[in-house]
Amino acid sequence: MKEFLGKDMRLTNQRRIILEELQSVSTHPTADEVYGLVRQKMPRISLGTVYRNLEVLSSLGLVRKLENAAGQKRFDGDTSPHHHIRCEVCGKVGDIYDAPDISGIEKGLHSDFQVTGFILEFSGICPHCQARQQPEQ
Ligand SMILES: [Zn+2]
Ligand SMILES: [Zn+2]
Repeated sequence: MKEFLGKDMRLTNQRRIILEELQSVSTHPTADEVYGLVRQKMPRISLGTVYRNLEVLSSLGLVRKLENAAGQKRFDGDTSPHHHIRCEVCGKVGDIYDAPDISGIEKGLHSDFQVTGFILEFSGICPHCQARQQPEQ
């Protein structure tokens, strides 16, 4: 954390608090949820400021932006390599650290597109939703 402060003067106090809040949770919050977290420390911050700072942190590589085809944009304070799994019932996003290494899988695909990457997201049912599902009678 401190090393970034020296390297990047643009890491303002606001931005630092947003980053710290994001790194303190593992829930992959949406921008709205991040706003709810940082307002406890900075009651006067606006949602627009939070959005802008999240985009800047993402472009600096300090946070990871999770996008998929259908869902809402979410943010991850953990930039270490890992994959995500989304609950089909409640939308909660969890981390998967032990998936096989598939980096480079896009190379050698046959498409008239110029392939620049891929989005991988596992889907499933989270423990909370599993517990709520009663066996069919
Ligand atoms: Zn769930
Ligand atoms: Zn994650």
